[in-house]
Amino acid sequence: MMEKFTIIAGPCAVESEEQIVRIAIKLKQIGVDYLRGGAFKPRTNPDSFQGLGDLGIEYLLKAKEITGLPIVTELMTIEQVRKYADKIDIIQIGSRNMYNYELLKELGHYSKLVLLKRGLSATYNEWINAAKYINNEDKVILCERGIRGFDMSTRNVLDIQAIPYIKHNTKHKIFVDPSHSGNRYMIEPMSLASVTAGCDGLMIEVHDKPDESLCDKNQAISIEELTIIINKIKKLNK
Ligand code: PEP
Ligand code: MN
Repeated sequence: MMEKFTIIAGPCAVESEEQIVRIAIKLKQIGVDYLRGGAFKPRTNPDSFQGLGDLGIEYLLKAKEITGLPIVTELMTIEQVRKYADKIDIIQIGSRNMYNYELLKELGHYSKLVLLKRGLSATYNEWINAAKYINNEDKVILCERGIRGFDMSTRNVLDIQAIPYIKHNTKHKIFVDPSHSGNRYMIEPMSLASVTAGCDGLMIEVHDKPDESLCDKNQAISIEELTIIINKIKKLNK
């Protein structure tokens, strides 16, 4: 299990081999620990880009081979877990699947780390119980990604209180994804706030051409912006 503060970064979705390799090389240079990229995308709108699926995993593995960066990606079905669990370094379970107990139970059969995102409106208790289905406290990292509030002018409400709550009441590592609750300009302040509150790692969506992102464009930051955030985190963690 990771001892130092961990930074996972990458685009919301793998868009092409060229795109993920290009981004991975830059992320490696700025000291990111894990590369993320969605291949199977649980999009709210069925007409939105759905991800490259199996091909997306292939391209991620290529980026890993070239850069040495371990990879994090979301798996949505038991079949996908059986097919890819051995190849992925951290299996991401998305918000929409936090209550998919059969999928969670399947993960118990593998030794891989699991990043379990908090459900859109899940209570702490429901989230912690979901982790119990995976049946191993050491390998489940909980990830706060914002919950549904009444004000939709920001996408979600990032629940910073989750950090001390999880630390105080469980043995899980707690990561924060500051990307899915807001807009580009909020990523830096929410990242720094989360670090100050004691999170163990961050997962941030980044793109080398943020405006051209096929997925979650409004929350994608540039690699330059991520570099600034990483430098500020280093100072905070000193
Ligand atoms: C993602 O990480 O791109 C994603 C789909 O996240 P969530 O499950 O938190 O919506
Ligand atoms: Mn996303």
